[in-house]
Amino acid sequence: MSPLYLLFLGPAGSGKGTQAEKILETFGLCHLSTGDILRGAIRKETLLGKKAESYVEAGDLVPDSLIIDLIKETLTPDRIEKGFLFDGFPRTLEQGEKLKELLLDLGISLTHIFYFDISLEKTISRIAGRRICVDCNKIYHIDYNPPKTCGEDCSGNFIQRSDDTEEKVRHRYDVFEEQTVPLLSFYGEDLLSIDADLTPDEIHRELCLAIEGTKV
Ligand code: AMP
Repeated sequence: MSPLYLLFLGPAGSGKGTQAEKILETFGLCHLSTGDILRGAIRKETLLGKKAESYVEAGDLVPDSLIIDLIKETLTPDRIEKGFLFDGFPRTLEQGEKLKELLLDLGISLTHIFYFDISLEKTISRIAGRRICVDCNKIYHIDYNPPKTCGEDCSGNFIQRSDDTEEKVRHRYDVFEEQTVPLLSFYGEDLLSIDADLTPDEIHRELCLAIEGTKV
């Protein structure tokens, strides 16, 4: 079976991260979440973290050049062999074009591109209750999936992301509409639209059907 190379597009709060967890488990892929990588770099105060911090805090996009360098580093031979899922990347046309070049050079192409379609109001109500494990980035919701100790190495410390306030979520949605929505026509017919208002189990089933149905 050839490796899967998946891409999840969608605004903050559309359920990409939650679905990524389930899909990684089901298909054994590597998770390439630019948001997780950036938050880790900010926590560790690396050079990348220092450069990215003010953008992430404001809910703005980190400059394309930084993200593209980061992606080049993540596309290692072992990940290519195993298969991967891009979650939150690309977010601009320039990133999309650069990714196309990178994959072409590597002789691979994306196998599935999913768009998580959801309204602004729904994302706001979801994100208000979102909590994240600081150690493994697992996502919880105070009502629908209350935080609990996730792994042996996790300290049980759950936080609300500083960019998860209503004001910042509204801003991030605007940024998504302005800068990321153009990617929907860039991917055109290759894009599979998912109704992100369905329950997590229903969405997982839809994703699996789409992936299983076309796996070679
Ligand atoms: P996320 O966890 O995907 O919601 O990303 C959190 C924040 O990280 C975003 O609001 C951006 O500031 C930054 N970020 C994540 N991925 C990208 C990307 N592909 N391009 C630019 N900025 C990004």
